[in-house]
Amino acid sequence: MRGVGETGLDFFRTGPEGVAAQERSFRAHIEIAKRHGKALVIHDREAHADVLRVLDEEGAPERTVFHCYSGDAEMAEICAAKGYYMSFAGNVTFKNAQPLRDALAVAPWSWSSSRPTPLPHPGALPGPPQRPYLIPVTVRAMAEVRGIGENELAEAIAVNTARAFDY
Ligand SMILES: [Zn+2]
Repeated sequence: MRGVGETGLDFFRTGPEGVAAQERSFRAHIEIAKRHGKALVIHDREAHADVLRVLDEEGAPERTVFHCYSGDAEMAEICAAKGYYMSFAGNVTFKNAQPLRDALAVAPWSWSSSRPTPLPHPGALPGPPQRPYLIPVTVRAMAEVRGIGENELAEAIAVNTARAFDY
């Protein structure tokens, strides 16, 4: 097992009881990830501030990954400062996803420091069915946002995925 999750908070169409239950299980998953030294894989939908708050309150695991990152640039700077990984998915290519591309533009990138460095890596496209053959489309779009080559980005993705999941 490489990680605990996906876990986190999803407030889309969720009532107050659901919110409380999600927060309880999110806290428990954080504790399990830390106890076993595993990456914590976070699902965050319409719950950015609360996800960050619970991570602060519990103390985030050393390797914390926002899968299908959906925050804005301001949140990306917070995640970067805290050393969280941000995983960008196919929705970064959507026309209406400029705030997401702005976040991608400020996500840190260098992988030479000793401390885990948050780097973008593409996950699967949102929603079933998953279409892994489209990952190059995402990578190309991400490389364009960052103004770097596809190969350079692919290398960063490989290095950082290995670092995030400890293999
Ligand atoms: Zn998810």
